[in-house]
Order: sequence, then structure tokens, then C-alpha cells
Amino acid sequence: MENINVRVRFAPSPTGGLHLGGVRTALFNYLFAKKNNGKFIVRIEDTDQTRFVAGAEAYLLNCLEWCGIVPDESTIHSGNHGPYRQSERKELYQKYAQQLIDEGKAYLAFDTPEELSEMREKFKSAENPSPQYNAALRMQMRNSLSLSDADIKQLLADKTPYVVRIKMPENETVVFTDMIRGKLSFSTALCDDKVLLKADGMPTYHLAVVADDYLMEISHAFRGEEWLPSAPVHILLWKYLFGLDKMPQWAHLPLILKPDGNGKLSKRDGERLGFPVFAMNWTDPATQHTMDGFKERGFLPQAFVNMLAMLGWNDGTDREIFSMDELIEAFSIERIHKSGAKFDYEKAKWFNHQWILRLPTDAYLTEVDEIFNKKGMPVRDIEKLKHACQLVKDRCTSLHDFYDQAFFFFKTPTNIDTASIKEKWTEHKRIFFETFLDKLTTVEWSATAMEALFKTIAADQNIKVGELMLPLRIMLVGSKFGPGVFAIAELLGKEETTKRIQTTLQLLEVI
Ligand code: GLU
Repeated sequence: MENINVRVRFAPSPTGGLHLGGVRTALFNYLFAKKNNGKFIVRIEDTDQTRFVAGAEAYLLNCLEWCGIVPDESTIHSGNHGPYRQSERKELYQKYAQQLIDEGKAYLAFDTPEELSEMREKFKSAENPSPQYNAALRMQMRNSLSLSDADIKQLLADKTPYVVRIKMPENETVVFTDMIRGKLSFSTALCDDKVLLKADGMPTYHLAVVADDYLMEISHAFRGEEWLPSAPVHILLWKYLFGLDKMPQWAHLPLILKPDGNGKLSKRDGERLGFPVFAMNWTDPATQHTMDGFKERGFLPQAFVNMLAMLGWNDGTDREIFSMDELIEAFSIERIHKSGAKFDYEKAKWFNHQWILRLPTDAYLTEVDEIFNKKGMPVRDIEKLKHACQLVKDRCTSLHDFYDQAFFFFKTPTNIDTASIKEKWTEHKRIFFETFLDKLTTVEWSATAMEALFKTIAADQNIKVGELMLPLRIMLVGSKFGPGVFAIAELLGKEETTKRIQTTLQLLEVI
């Protein structure tokens, strides 16, 4: 690989939320580029103006930034191959369309949408349920191959709208080697005469992707498997326009499947099954409907990226946890699987838990602080929050769990589960807690010292420590959960600990 200038591209269309499959495509491009000291380019493919959605481009770039997949060149990162937005490159494509027309590899088609649907109806048969505009039918349509020169001249003089279509060879075999799938061959007999240039002068994806991969000097192109059927068109365009020796090496990535393995994971599956499918929350500007993102569901970008990398790739061992740098180091195309990978939300949560445990609390303290704020519980003492996070992190699979697991450090419980204490409450125990309270005033304020004190008093008063731990926990937390009870007391501080024990003792008197 040393002699090749590696340049790869992620080429999203700004049409809405960024699906996790898209992020994985970006990630594999990125890993390959970084592994080979190459450049990772983000090109915005916005030639389909009917699908354009305001705000989607900025959102896409934000998602990539959150994931740590940072482009070397994009609409907001400078580079020498711009513009990086296809709508700003409109003029560049026309000359290639013209070249193809001049060389007899493409033609003008004047058919109206009505004529196209008429054709589909007219030629529909049992053997051919969806007739295509292809070598078999093109001469029956209204195009520069079937019409006379005079007719064409007249249509152009009348400014009749037309598209440019590729003239697919009737029966040729197109062969190429995919980096993941190996040698593949397609018969052009199965391909239609795809539109290359639309009536508004904008290229379609097919022409734009080939022209831009050439102009941007792309060496390797990773994209989703759903593009495989279009590959023969792209390869012919490469052959006609630039020469196959300049063509990037293709890698068509396997699909990410629904959890039951039945087909591609769609954005609707997420809403149906209750998990996010987008990298970050996406609000459709037209409907104001928001679809969940992993970020807002409390995922760490490290976990999200790690989980995605393992959907369709491994390093050949059982190892599952990789940082971005480790992924770059270990990545190899040979180890990308050929078959689709089932998405498993439980496994995604497992990755998040692993990363919560691995990262220093500082790495996600700001996010947890924000979650507390949003819950209407602003934290004044950020050091205390950090300490609380350290105490409860092994109970958290999402950053939101930090709130559920640690809110009681910041808010005196209002609902105390006294019923659970009462089940085995005795006068003896009350005396114990009063003694404990009394001694707390002078004990050194540490979990270890408090635990020693607690045990000494229990031994003196001849009560089993085991019977006292649950009441103490409920007094401090309000119910039966949380980390080590003396660690809780240490962090709560003397005043708050004393107050909570006293309050519960009073409640127990009354009930
Ligand atoms: N614009 C295409 C998409 O959104 C890109 C396909 C490619 O990478 O060539 O999937």
C-alpha cells in the first residue's frame, strides 16, 4: 500500500437522520484511511433536490464529530479538491455527459413521466413484471437514438425537457474485484439505461459519483451493499470516461440486519422495537417528529464506535473492546465479513457499560451534569458529582442511569421505604442507631472509620451487623439500592447523614 496515495470518501446525502449503518460506512472508510496514512473526505451528495432537507448536512457533520470520525476534507474542513457539496459542482458534470453523448455512449431522452408509465404498463408481462428503459425497449421510446435528426432539432428548439441516459451495451459482462467479495461479474442485459443528467441539468448519483471519485482522486471506496446493483453502471462510466486503471478499489460493506436477521435494519425498526437507530437525535423539520439518537440515549461515542466496528468485522480473536486508535491499528479489510450482521441493542448497551467502566469519570462528567440539569436537579458541587459517578458506575449501562443511581446524593429522599425497615424493627435496633448517631459526631469522616464504628457498636450491643445494614441503607438512600452504604455516608457528609438517620428514626416512631 506504501506507494498509493490513499484517499477515501464518505458520501452521504443530506436527507435526514444518520443511520448507524451510515456511521459504520464512515467509520470503515476512516479506519482504512488512518491505517494507511491517507485522507478521509466527506462529500455531500445533494444532487437530488427533491430529497434535500435543511439542516441535515450540519447534523451529519456533528454526528461524525461526536463519533471522533473527523474528516480531513469536507464542506467545513479545507482541502484542495473542493467544492465538497455536489450541488456546487453542477457545471463540472455536464462536460462528461457531453463527452458520453459525443462518443455514442449516452443519448438524450425526451419521454415525459406519463410516457414512461405508459411504457411500463404496455410492456408489462408475466415474464417481465417491471419493464425497464433498456436495450430491448429504448428504440420504442422518444430519444435521440429512435427519433430523426429533424425531430431532435425541433424538440431542442422548442426547449423540450430531456434527460441524458447511458446507453448500456446489450449483452456485455462487466467484471470487477471487490475488496470484500472478490471477483464479481454482472451482465449488462440486466441493467437499464440509467439517467445520468436530469432535466434540470443536475447529474444523478451515478454520473456524479464517478466524476467526483475521479476528480477527488479517490483510491478506495467503501459503501453499503445496497449499491452493488449500480456497480456495473459505475464501472462502465469509469471505462468510458477515465480509464479503469484510475478507478478506485471498491468495497461493498455487508448490511446491518434487524435483530431477528430478517432484512436490513430500518429507521422504523428502532421506533418499533424501542432502540435508537440514528447516531444523534434527528428532528424532521417538516413534521417536527424526533427520532432517537444513541448520543441522547446516554451512549458514549467510544462505545458506539466500538460496537459499530464489531458489526461486520473482528480482529481474528475474541477481543471485543477497542478504542479508535486500537481499531486503526488492528483494522484490515480481509477481516470484514461478507454476510450481514444482526444488530443487537443489548450488546450495544454492554459495550456502553464496558466503556463507562473503562473511561475516567471526567470523560463524561459534563454529559452527566447536563442530565441532572435536565431532570431539574442542577448540581452545585461538581466534585461531589464526580465522586458519586465513581461510586455508581458499575451499575450504569447508559449515562442516564447515573441520575437514577446517584440522585439521592443530591436530594434528601422524600419517600422512605420505612415499611421494609419496620418488618424487623425492634427497640434494640433503635437504641443501636441512637448510639451510632451519637458517636458519629466524633468519628473520623471516612467509610472505613464509620464501618469500624458501626461494627464495634453492634458487637457491644450484641446485634448482628447484617440486620442493621438494610435499615441504614434505607435511611440514607430511601430504598434498597445503591453502592456500599458507608461510602454513601462518606460522600453525603456528616450533617446530611445524621439528618437522614434522624428523620427516619422519627418516622419509625410515628408509624
Ligand atoms: N450518496 C450515496 C448514499 O447516500 C453514497 C453512496 C456511495 O458511497 O457511493 O448512500
